[in-house]
Amino acid sequence: MIAHVSLEIALRKEFDYFIPPELAGRVDVGSRVQVPFGPRKIFGCVTALAEESAHANLKPILKVIGAQTLVTPKVLNLARWIADYYCCAPEVALKSVLPEVVRREESGWRERLFVRALPVAGEFPKLPKRQQEVWNIIEERRELPLTELLELAETTATTARKLEDRGLIEIAPQISERDPYAREHILPSQSLVLNPAQAQALQEITQAMEGKNDECRMINAKAGDLRKESDSPFVIRHSTFLLHGVTGSGKTEVYLQAIAHALEQGKGAIVLVPEISLTPQTVERFKARFSSGPLQTLVAVLHSHLSAGERHDEWHKIRQGRARIVIGARSAIFAPVEPLGLVIVDEEHEHTYKQEEAPRYHARDVAIVRGQMENAVVVLGSATPSLESYHNCKKGKYTLLELPERVDNQKMPHVRVVDMRQAARAGKGIPIFSQQLKEAIAQRLERGEQTILFLNRRGYSTSLQCPLCGFVAKCPNCSLSLTYHRPEQKLSCHLCGHIEPVPRVCPESKCKNPAIRYAGTGTQRVEETLTKLFPQARVKRMDSDVMKRKDDYRKVLGDFRTGKIDILVGTQMIAKGLHFPNVTLVGIIYADLALHLPDFRAGERTFQLLTQVAGRAGRGDVEGEVFVQAFTPFHPAIQFARRHDFVGFYEQEIEFREQLKYPPLSRVALLTLKGRNEEKVKFSADHLKRELEKELLPSSAGRAGSPLPAAPGDVNDGAHGVTRPTFPDLIIAGPAPAPLLRAETYYRYQIMLRTRLMSKLSQALAKLISSLTLPEDVTLTVDIDPVSLG
Ligand code: ADP
Ligand code: ZN
Repeated sequence: MIAHVSLEIALRKEFDYFIPPELAGRVDVGSRVQVPFGPRKIFGCVTALAEESAHANLKPILKVIGAQTLVTPKVLNLARWIADYYCCAPEVALKSVLPEVVRREESGWRERLFVRALPVAGEFPKLPKRQQEVWNIIEERRELPLTELLELAETTATTARKLEDRGLIEIAPQISERDPYAREHILPSQSLVLNPAQAQALQEITQAMEGKNDECRMINAKAGDLRKESDSPFVIRHSTFLLHGVTGSGKTEVYLQAIAHALEQGKGAIVLVPEISLTPQTVERFKARFSSGPLQTLVAVLHSHLSAGERHDEWHKIRQGRARIVIGARSAIFAPVEPLGLVIVDEEHEHTYKQEEAPRYHARDVAIVRGQMENAVVVLGSATPSLESYHNCKKGKYTLLELPERVDNQKMPHVRVVDMRQAARAGKGIPIFSQQLKEAIAQRLERGEQTILFLNRRGYSTSLQCPLCGFVAKCPNCSLSLTYHRPEQKLSCHLCGHIEPVPRVCPESKCKNPAIRYAGTGTQRVEETLTKLFPQARVKRMDSDVMKRKDDYRKVLGDFRTGKIDILVGTQMIAKGLHFPNVTLVGIIYADLALHLPDFRAGERTFQLLTQVAGRAGRGDVEGEVFVQAFTPFHPAIQFARRHDFVGFYEQEIEFREQLKYPPLSRVALLTLKGRNEEKVKFSADHLKRELEKELLPSSAGRAGSPLPAAPGDVNDGAHGVTRPTFPDLIIAGPAPAPLLRAETYYRYQIMLRTRLMSKLSQALAKLISSLTLPEDVTLTVDIDPVSLG
C-alpha cells in the first residue's frame, strides 16, 4: 500500500511513501506520520491511500503518531476547502486544524503515580501508628495521586512504600488528565422556562435539527462540490440561523437548550466564542448544564491560555468522544466532534474570528461550511450582527431569529451623546472629559457605583479631523477617511492611492479653524488625567500595554467584580460580554476614533462598539447611563447606536455599501506586497496589477487569444482552446501604499479586488500567483474576506 502525504514544510505538493509491513493497518487517511525527506525526518498528514504509485523507489513511512487518526476525514475536507477558498497551500491549512501539541508527539498524556487500596486478604494487620494514619486516608479515598496522599498525611514516600510492601496498597503510574477547570466548583444548573421569543427561536432551531436527522442524503463533502457560483459558498437554506438578540436577551439559554437537543439526538456541538469572552463564567454555564443529568457529557475547552498539556488532554477527550461539547475560540471550529449536530458562533460579528496569519480563515464562515459538509445546524448569535450575516437573512439564505427584549425587562441604558466640539471651543486644546462626564463620574464615586471608561485606540489617530467642527478629510473615490502622513504633510487614500495636501485651515467654509491637526489621546493620558481629577478614586487601566501576562486580565476583572476598583479604563478589551451589576456608568472618550479609520467598515465597527460598550451599563438593579463623547455627534453610526436601532443602522449602511460595491454586496481579496525597498515593492505592485488586469478582467473584443466575455462562469474560447475565467463585476483598486506604522521598517502596497465570484477568483489568484515572479525581498500575501484594511 502507498500513502499520499502532505508534508509540513510548505511545498504545495504531496509525496508518495510506502507503508511498511510493521505499520500495516495503522496508516489511514488523516494519520499523522513521520517520513524521511532527503536527510531529514519530517511530519506530515496522510491525505489518501492508493495501491500503486507513479514513482519508483518509494521510501517508507517511519512512524505513525497517535493511536487514532488525528485528522478525521471530515476535518481533512474542511482543510482542503480552506486551502482552496483562502488561497493558501494545503499544508498551511492542514497545520491549523490540529493544535500544535497534538501534532507534535512529545508531550502526550501525563502519567502520575497513583495509590490504590487493594482488597485485604485475611485479617487486617496491626500497623504502626504512622502507617495506620496513612492507611486510613487511603481506605477512605480508595484511590488518589501519591503526591496528594503525602500532602494530606504529611508523610514521605517511604511510609507509603511500607504499606505497599505489606500488600495493602498498590502504587502505579496512571494517566492523569489535566483539567484546566479542576479548581472551579461548579453547581449543576437546570433548563430555564423560556420566554415566548426564546421558545420560538429554539423551536425553529430544533426543527431544523430534526430535519437534518431525517435527511438521509449524504452530503457530498468533496471540497469542489461546495464551490457554487453566485456570491457565496456559505449557504444552505434553513440550516443557518442568525439569532439577533440584545445583550441580556437570553441567547445563551437558547444555545444551551439547542445543545441539549443535539445530545438527545446522539450528536455533539461546537460553541465558538471570542477569546476575550472565554471567561471562567462563560465556560461554567456550559459545564453546569451538562456535567450531570441524563445528558451528561464532558465539556472540553480549547483556547490559547491553556497549557500545552491541558490542550492535549482536552483535544483527546473530544477525539475519543468523551467530550461531546466543545467551547473555544477560533480554532475550536476544527475540533473532531463526531457526529456534529450543532455549531454555535456567539458574537458572530467579532473580528477576532478572522485569523490574521495564513491560513487567513474566518471561523464563522468556516463554521457555516463545516455545518454544510457535516449536515449540522449553525446558529450565529449577536446583538449587533455583521452586515454580511444580516444581509444573508434579508436574501433568505439564513433564517433570522429575534430576541428583541432583555429577559428581565430591564430598560436599555440611556445613551447621551456629548458634542465635544463645544467643549473644544470652550476650553484650550482638546479636552478628554466633558463637563457632563466629569459630573457623572463624581456622582458614581459618591454613590459607590462603578464606571467603565473606554477609548478605542491606544495610539494616535491616523485621520485628520477638525476638533471644532468635526470635519474629516475623505477620499473622493472611495469615501474612506484619508490617512494623515505627518512627515510629508499629505493626505492619502490607502485604497486607491489618491493624494492631496494637508489643508492649513479647516476646509469647512463655516469653520476655517487654523488648528485642524488632530492629536490623539491614549488610554495612559486618560488614566493620568483621571487620577488628577479624582485623586480618591481607585483607577485601573486595562489595555494590551499593561496586560502582558495571561492572568493579569483575569485578576483585574476579578478586582473590579469584587469592588476593589472604582473606575476601569480600557480599550476594546473591556467592550465584550462582561457582566458587572454595579457598573452604572460607561463613558466613551472619543467615539470618533473608530469612526474615521480608513476602512469601509469603520461605521459598522463604531456602531457595534458603542452598542456593546453601552450594554455593559446597568445590568444590575440600577438603570445604566452611557456618555458618548464625539466630534461628529450626528454621524449615523453614533445616532443609531444611541437609539439602539440596529435595523435603522443596517438600512442606511447597506446603501453606502451598495453604492461603492463594498461587502456584503461583493467580496474582497486584499493583496499586500511587502518589502524594505519601497521602489521594489511599488514596482512589484504595479506589475501584479497589470497581470491581474490581463488575466482577470473581461478582455476587450478582438485581442488575440482572449476569450469572449460571456455570462458568469468559465468562459471557453473555442477558437483558441483557452479556458480563462473572467469576472464581469471585478473592481481592482490600487496599488496604494498602506499607512506606515511607526515601528515598521518595511513598506506595504495593497491592491484590493472586489467581486461576487470569490471562490472562482481565489482559484484564479492561486494560478496567477504560482506563475508570478517577484523580487526575492518582496513578499505577497493574499487575504480573502479581510476584516480590516489596515
Ligand atoms: P445573552 O446571552 O443574550 O446576553 P443570557 O443568556 O446571558 O443573555 O441571559 C441573561 C440572564 O438572563 C442570565 O442570567 C440568564 O440566566 C437569564 N435568563 C435567560 N433566559 C431566561 C429565562 N427564560 N428565564 C429566566 N432567566 C433567564
Ligand atoms: Zn480612494
